[in-house]
Amino acid sequence: MESIPTTRGIGEGIARRIRSGIALFADHHEGMAFLGGSGAEARYSVPSRSRPGLKRFVRLSGEGDSCTCPDFSCSGLGCCAHTVAAMIADSKRVEHRVEARHDSRFGEMFDLVEYRGGRRSRVVAVCLSYNDALMARMDLAGFPKAAA
Ligand SMILES: [Zn+2]
Repeated sequence: MESIPTTRGIGEGIARRIRSGIALFADHHEGMAFLGGSGAEARYSVPSRSRPGLKRFVRLSGEGDSCTCPDFSCSGLGCCAHTVAAMIADSKRVEHRVEARHDSRFGEMFDLVEYRGGRRSRVVAVCLSYNDALMARMDLAGFPKAAA
């Protein structure tokens, strides 16, 4: 009998939920919705695969994730297919913020910063004046909050 391959350091229970979360995201990502959140906290509704029409509610956060499905509350693993699907969606979520920064040569400066899944990933532009920062902030008001 061939043994089931597992990712080193991850038990089969978690590996199985990662695989079904990837499949869930691939098949049902149109049915998922970003419900809100800021920084590392994000809330999603994720369709159930076993019960079509039913939604599960996921909360991702730095202190631990949660889901309303029975698998999450029974397994004790701290993950399920829905939290995995939500993590994939969250890695694609882009937020833009204007951040003030002190520069030794120019004084007060404003950076336009891109965040993905709560992580600062890239400085898109540097704004040199308060007016520029204000303009950028106004432009960003029209940015979609969720791009999942
Ligand atoms: Zn779940």
